[in-house]
Amino acid sequence: MTTDVQSRDLRDRVLAALRRRPVRPPYEPDLPDDPARTATELVRLTGMYVAEPFLTLEEARRRLGVDRTRLAALLRAFHEVPQLREAVLTGPTQKYWAKTVLPLEQSGSLDAVLRGLPRYPQMIGFYPGPTCMLRCGFCGRLTGVRYETPAIASGNDTFAAIIDELPTDDPERLHISGGLEPLTNPGTGELVRRAAARGFNVTCYTNAFALTPGTLRRQPGLWDLGALRVSLYGTDEGEYTGTTGRAGAFTRVRANLLEYQRAVRRRGHGPALGFNYVILPEQVHRITRLVDLVAELNEACPERPVAFLNLREEYSGRPGAGGLSTEDREELRVALGAFERRVRERAPGLRVDYGYALHALREGTPAVLPRLGHAELRPGAHPQVALQVDPLGNVFLYREAAFPGLARTDRYVAGRVSPAVGLGQVIEEFVASGRRIEAEPGDELFLDGFDQVVTARLRQLESDLAAGWGVARGLLR
Ligand code: SF4
Repeated sequence: MTTDVQSRDLRDRVLAALRRRPVRPPYEPDLPDDPARTATELVRLTGMYVAEPFLTLEEARRRLGVDRTRLAALLRAFHEVPQLREAVLTGPTQKYWAKTVLPLEQSGSLDAVLRGLPRYPQMIGFYPGPTCMLRCGFCGRLTGVRYETPAIASGNDTFAAIIDELPTDDPERLHISGGLEPLTNPGTGELVRRAAARGFNVTCYTNAFALTPGTLRRQPGLWDLGALRVSLYGTDEGEYTGTTGRAGAFTRVRANLLEYQRAVRRRGHGPALGFNYVILPEQVHRITRLVDLVAELNEACPERPVAFLNLREEYSGRPGAGGLSTEDREELRVALGAFERRVRERAPGLRVDYGYALHALREGTPAVLPRLGHAELRPGAHPQVALQVDPLGNVFLYREAAFPGLARTDRYVAGRVSPAVGLGQVIEEFVASGRRIEAEPGDELFLDGFDQVVTARLRQLESDLAAGWGVARGLLR
């Protein structure tokens, strides 16, 4: 749905599908059906959701200029013509639907939020790191603030108790991340081993600065990870120092990764290795060098090459953090072409994920991530979808709120896990309490891109339900 030609082609196919349909009652009780008009309106409706996945049905109705009966008829027809669903799911904003919205719909977690029912969330993040050795410009943490040493052991007991408590119906539910750097906790490997023994396929997000042979020797449980997702902050020493504030970091991370690959080769197996890379404006034209680093790591272990690379644009929204300008985006669109050629040449097995907004950019559509303001945050957040736990047992409602010492984040703590209170009880009590958090200016920075997408979807669904659209809410599920 990106060009007139594509729209016309879709309209023709929709019209043919409507004409092939078995004889059905007309869409409107008092009017003869007009397939040509219906096809045109369906294509317009589809185009709106391709461009704006979080549109409300009432807004779509207003733009179409139809009454409720007519929109209800169009929505029925939409679901009878598979090409329309396909157009949404293969369009430039497909990532919103495929990566987040539809999996959450299918898990029932969005419905649980809408109905105010407690449930273990789809995603639980353990944030076990007491500190971090880097200082990235876009990071929300407070320099110098850390969890004190006694909190590490008791925190690990809390994480272990949660692992033992969790139902095992979803092996992908658990990840270890930050907050602060998880490999600064000497017990992270043991937690991974405990979780793996219960069948969890845990992903650990790390900056890999501490991913040394010594750490792997001291924490053999790290070998039980399902995936190791390394956040890279550049492709040479200058970029790394500029982003992380730590001289020598690139040399050390690169050496650690090469050693890791050699260790995997010796062992004959190991967690899938992949990278997260946030593209900052000054790095746009150098992204092909990422592929060279991947190729070098693949040479160290050809049997287990780097599995994935997630490219993202800066999202924190913090002043000076490095968001992309319109010119940067255009430069990036061109650079992505060269990048893809280099992937084909040097790392053909690499799975590249462009995330919500970069995927759209690659398709030539100017799409940006939803960026809700504080007034648009939902007062009850979405604990049935995702939660984060820190070493003190605090259960955070938003991902970027879970840093020690951040002002005003205590309002986003749903409760605290302790020897007497499990995670399930924290969720139940928070949901049952009906607690409403009045957001203040700046609170929107506590949401990462995922939290923003979930919030945008829930706002859309609530609006559709309030307008009486029932099962049609949100167009797709
Ligand atoms: S973004 Fe991660 S690696 Fe960088 S300073 Fe923050 S916690 Fe440390």
